[in-house]
Amino acid sequence: MFCGKIVCVGRNYRSHAAEMKAEEPSEPVLFLKPASSLIGNREPILLPRSIGRVDHEAELAVIIGKRCKSVGADQALRHVSHLAVFNDVTAREMQSMAKAKGLPWTLSKGIDTFSPMSDPRLIGDVDDLQALDIELKVNGVTRQWGNTSEMIFPVAELIAYISRWMRLDEGDIVATGTPGGVGAIWPGDLVEIEISEVGRLANPVRSL
Ligand code: MG
Repeated sequence: MFCGKIVCVGRNYRSHAAEMKAEEPSEPVLFLKPASSLIGNREPILLPRSIGRVDHEAELAVIIGKRCKSVGADQALRHVSHLAVFNDVTAREMQSMAKAKGLPWTLSKGIDTFSPMSDPRLIGDVDDLQALDIELKVNGVTRQWGNTSEMIFPVAELIAYISRWMRLDEGDIVATGTPGGVGAIWPGDLVEIEISEVGRLANPVRSL
């Protein structure tokens, strides 16, 4: 499926907002990742040299199946066709420096291979997308654990909010935020994420 854009949601879990020492948002915090950063299951995350600390962020991704603009939350999920497991890989030092200078953090999120995503699962195959366990392991050790019930803004509200401002097209991806426990990855690591009912995503980390 062609992907035009990846819309990401920042600080959508209290546990992650707290660990970033950031306030809980009163409205969804949005940013974009380029579609060129997407890779699939088993493909390597490539870390450019001298990039500093790079973090994993385990997230539920929803894939738009039908174009929507200004859709209400009650109708929003009709426009979602698939769910997937997503890793919002982030060059954390680069992002922190940009934030400190009041500059956009686009580059820290948009590097090639920094958006691993699993094979998509039909939304109809999942019982309740706000009751899914998310677990991320690095080299077999659990680093992140959460449940989509802990989202500050549930998926339907996110789609409604985003589509008020930005049309969502078929194939667009919405990454719905990460629970607490983000941490660094290094060349040689294996990052594995499982979301119950949705699937698994595994990516080795290599230096570029
Ligand atoms: Mg994220």
